[in-house]
Amino acid sequence: MKKMQQLYEGKAKKVYATDDPDLVIVDYKDDATAFNGLKKGTIAGKGVINNRVTNYLMQMLEEKGIPTHFVKELSERETLVRRVSIVPLEVIVRNISAGSFSKRYGVEEGRVFAEPTLEFSYKNDDLGDPLINDDHAVALGIATRDEIAQIRQMALQVNTLLKEFFKGVGIDLVDFKLEFGKTSDGRIVLADEISPDTCRFWDAKTHAKLDKDRFRRDLGDVEEAYHEILSRIFGEA
Ligand code: UDP
Repeated sequence: MKKMQQLYEGKAKKVYATDDPDLVIVDYKDDATAFNGLKKGTIAGKGVINNRVTNYLMQMLEEKGIPTHFVKELSERETLVRRVSIVPLEVIVRNISAGSFSKRYGVEEGRVFAEPTLEFSYKNDDLGDPLINDDHAVALGIATRDEIAQIRQMALQVNTLLKEFFKGVGIDLVDFKLEFGKTSDGRIVLADEISPDTCRFWDAKTHAKLDKDRFRRDLGDVEEAYHEILSRIFGEA
């Protein structure tokens, strides 16, 4: 597979064309941003960890019947994925109150929900990724009713599978963000990444934060937290 011209550079990843029009290469960076790009920094080794963690989880989800864009890990930081057009929705699933949910509704972090909650944000940096409902998404032509129904169902299935998996390695899955894409033949598949950048992970016993909140909130030991997630998943020191 030949790595060709760069198509796109995002906050945490670069995307390159290949000699196959249906495949692209994702290259994970160590750059970290928060608060819609206002806070910038570097987390040493993050790209390698997020690449490995994402690929492990995407493969696990595929095996359990969730269609994803994953094709093949190419190197420490690079992965071959199916080319998709990203549906501009941040699909957020929450099991425990935290972050913007706690802030918006004035509740403490750590309230365990009786059932998962799902919300959409419109992926648009200029607007600050505003919360959006199904009707708005349809009105804006972001997705059809049927696509939204598929996305909702897949996101909840992913939550069930990830929550169970992380419970097994002593981690509470607090919340996470998913992105979906459409393939050239119109199928909706899980895309983007699943990593400590996009999930909140709390140690089940100590409730220590093992995710990007350590960077967002200047809690220290950021690299250590990313490493801890890698070790819990792969059983490495
Ligand atoms: N999230 C993300 N990218 C975003 C916004 C949120 O990956 O642009 C993830 C975030 O890491 C967390 C979940 O989605 O796991 C819910 O985030 P929240 O809405 O609480 O926003 P935040 O407090 O991070 O601003």
